Amino acid sequence: MKKIINTLVFIIFSLVVSASAQHPDSLIQNLVLQTNLDTLIHYVEILSGEQSAIINGQASLITSRYAGHAHNDLAADYIHQTLQKTGLPTYDQNYSSNGRNVYAVQAGTTFPDQQFIVCAHYDDMPSFGAAPGADDNASGTAAVLEVARILSQISTPYTIIYALWDEEEMGLVGSAYYAQQAAQAGDNILGVVNLEMFGWDGNDDSTIDIHTRPVGNSLQLAGFIEDIQSIYQLGLFPVTYNPGTTASDHSSFWNQGYTAVVFSQAFYGNDMNPYYHTAGDRTTVFNLGYFYALSRLAVATVAHLVHYNMILDISFNHEIIPGELLLSQNYPNPFNPWTTIEFDLPDSRFTTLTIYNVLGESIATLVSGQLPAGRHTVLWNASGFPSGLYFYRLATDNSQETRKMILLE
Ligand SMILES: [Zn+2]
Repeated sequence: MKKIINTLVFIIFSLVVSASAQHPDSLIQNLVLQTNLDTLIHYVEILSGEQSAIINGQASLITSRYAGHAHNDLAADYIHQTLQKTGLPTYDQNYSSNGRNVYAVQAGTTFPDQQFIVCAHYDDMPSFGAAPGADDNASGTAAVLEVARILSQISTPYTIIYALWDEEEMGLVGSAYYAQQAAQAGDNILGVVNLEMFGWDGNDDSTIDIHTRPVGNSLQLAGFIEDIQSIYQLGLFPVTYNPGTTASDHSSFWNQGYTAVVFSQAFYGNDMNPYYHTAGDRTTVFNLGYFYALSRLAVATVAHLVHYNMILDISFNHEIIPGELLLSQNYPNPFNPWTTIEFDLPDSRFTTLTIYNVLGESIATLVSGQLPAGRHTVLWNASGFPSGLYFYRLATDNSQETRKMILLE
């Protein structure tokens, strides 16, 4: 039998700034800064028939990307040829006489078998007449092409697949085919980031939707994207919906048990593009700053995932013994510069409490030693550390828990 001792331990550290505590991460920040609005608009204008492009060696104007329209294939050719310009191997996946997905593969240098997919559908509506589909979904397609243009210039530890799906509007046909093939082949897809409708912000409130469901690590991936938004200060206000919509291609991956989310303009947030699926869905009604911010969020998210595999390695590596939740959420949170971390030990244990930066680097050890049973309270002074996301991990002989906290300057 152990005697219960209520102990209050104050451990106050004055911390030395670690040179490695760069925040936000400079590599990712540099990639985000390469996001080019002119390039994005150029892609959308070509895909939505505002300007012609050289496709298959001749000047062509894409007047519709509807699945049953001849220009749907012309759009696929344009996407294929644009991805090829990155130098990456680019493929067509013809899954029916009319259906064609287009994708490029950037093999990971350290973990080539572990993949992240960034994707969008390129087909559009309406089924008759001119179908520019600028917002739905030339905008998401353009963002995938822009992520490919930027990230293809560097090597990445994890594999990236840049995928543009056909026949989303016909019932997620292209993505369902791909996801089924991937599941059958046992592809190790760590996460799918689906980009939908980036151009419309009718009330100029910069709100975006993130849609997730409890499949794989999808809830964590949604939280991670919210974190990325705040770390890189992209000026957006994300709202996460769980259970989120199944009305786009990420849902095809949920059906196979894969981690996937979509982010988009605020269509659950009551700010749907009124020109949706009409001939009025054009770049002329875009909120360009919003389109740019969402595209930067896509670059930052994918860049972080393929460099650090954040969703699995750091933020959400919870290993909790059933019935035993030792670690409480710190308070205040967000904080500056002081915060309090509390935990309860059911018996005397060797215990460590460690702070990590967003890169997963250990920057401070607050506790390391044999502690008695009971509640323990530890203060952390983060003066001198850059603002942003941090993690604290409590490890004992037989448990490990990690939580997030945010330092605001
Ligand atoms: Zn769409």
